[in-house]
Amino acid sequence: MFEKFLKGKTAIVTGSNSGIGLGVAERLARAGADVVLNSFTDRDEDHALAEKLAAEHGVAVRYIKADMSKGAECRALVEQAGTCDILVNNAGIQHVAAIPDFPTDKWDAIIAINLSSAFHTTAAALPMMRNAGWGRVINIASAHGLTASPYKSAYVAAKHGIVGLTKVTGLETARDPITCNAICPGYVLTPLVEAQIPDTMAKYGMGRDEVIEKVLLERQPSKAFATTDQLGDTSVFFCSDAAAQITGTTISVDGGWTAL
Ligand code: NAD
Repeated sequence: MFEKFLKGKTAIVTGSNSGIGLGVAERLARAGADVVLNSFTDRDEDHALAEKLAAEHGVAVRYIKADMSKGAECRALVEQAGTCDILVNNAGIQHVAAIPDFPTDKWDAIIAINLSSAFHTTAAALPMMRNAGWGRVINIASAHGLTASPYKSAYVAAKHGIVGLTKVTGLETARDPITCNAICPGYVLTPLVEAQIPDTMAKYGMGRDEVIEKVLLERQPSKAFATTDQLGDTSVFFCSDAAAQITGTTISVDGGWTAL
C-alpha cells in the first residue's frame, strides 16, 4: 500500500535486526523510506541485512550499533543518523517471574530498553522533526500496555509507561506537523515468541499446536498470530496523510485480546 510515498524520508527503527522491528523496517523501505537499522550487536550479518534491504527496495539502509539500555547511546543513535523523520521505538526484551523473585537487574534492563530508550530517542529526534516540518513517532507497545498478566511486572509497567509517554508526546507535538502513536500488538510469532515454545511444550506436556492455541493464543480470540507485515503496514499507515490527525493514541493489533 501507499507505493513509495515515503521517498526522501528517513526512518530509524530501534531493535530492528529481528522480528517486529525488521518487519516494520521492511515495510517502511517498501514505501520508499531510507532506513536506519539498529541493535546492540555489530556483526557482519547485521550489516548484510542492511545491504539486502537496500538492494530489495532501492533505498539507503544503514545499520547503526547502539545499546538501547543506555540513554547516551539512544541519543547518539539519532545524532549519528543525522536526520530522523520517522522514529519507531521497538527494541524490547522480556523476563517472566513473580514480583518477590524478579531480579532487580532484569527490572532495570526492561525499564531501560522497553521504556526509557523511547524517551531518549524521542528527545533527540523531535528537534530534527520540527526543523524538517514533519515527523512521526511510532512506539511499539503491546496488549500489555493496556492490560496485565501475572509474572510480567516489569514488562507490563514499561508498556503501560510507553503508552503514557505516547500521550504526552502527542500533546507536546499537537501544534506541529508531527504525530506520536503506539501500536499494541497481541502475540506475534517472532524469534522471541518462537523461543518460548519448546519450554512451554515440556512444561505442560503439550504438542506445538496445542501450546500455540491453548497457552500463547489463550487470550487472543482470533486464535491467530498478528504478523510483522501487519505491524509494518500499520506503521506505514501512521505515516500517511490519512493519519495526520491521529495522535497520542494507541491502535491494537491483537485479534480482539483487549476487547475481552
Ligand atoms: P525480537 O527479540 O525478535 O526483537 C527484539 C529486538 O530488540 C531485536 O532486534 C533485538 O536485537 C533488539 N534489542 C534487544 N535489546 C536491545 C538493546 N539493548 N539495544 C538495542 N536493541 C535491542 O522480539 P519482537 O517480538 O520482535 O519484539 C519487538 C518489540 O515488540 C518489543 O518491544 C516487544 O515488547 C514488542 N511486542 C512483541 C510481541 C510479540 O508477540 N512478539 C507482542 C507485543 C509487543
